Amino acid sequence: MKRLLLLVLYAGAAGAYLTLGWIPGVVLVAIAIVGTLRSFVLTAYELAPTVRCGRGHIAPTYGLVQCSACGFTGEGSIWRCSHCDARYGHTPCPTCGLSIRNPSH
Ligand SMILES: [Zn+2]
Ligand SMILES: [Zn+2]
Repeated sequence: MKRLLLLVLYAGAAGAYLTLGWIPGVVLVAIAIVGTLRSFVLTAYELAPTVRCGRGHIAPTYGLVQCSACGFTGEGSIWRCSHCDARYGHTPCPTCGLSIRNPSH
C-alpha cells in the first residue's frame, strides 16, 4: 500500500514536472530575449548621431576625443576611446559645458 502511494506521488510529481516544467524555461528564454533587445536599444541610443544636453543643445556623438584614461586623442565615437577601449559615462556639452550622460549607461 505504501509502495502504491509512493508510485502515485511519483507519477504526480512527474506529471506536474511535464506539464509545468516548461514554464521556467520559457521565463528564462523571455528574460534572455528582453536582455538582448534591451542591449540592442541601448546600443542604438549610443550610436545615435547626436545627443542633447540638459539645456537642449545638440551635441554630435562622433568627433575628436581626448581619452581621460590613456591621454590618446583620436577621432570616433565620443563614448569610447579608439586606443584603450575605455568607455565614458558622460561628455561635456560643446555649447554650454553641461555634462551629457551616455544614454547606454
Ligand atoms: Zn584611452
Ligand atoms: Zn548645452
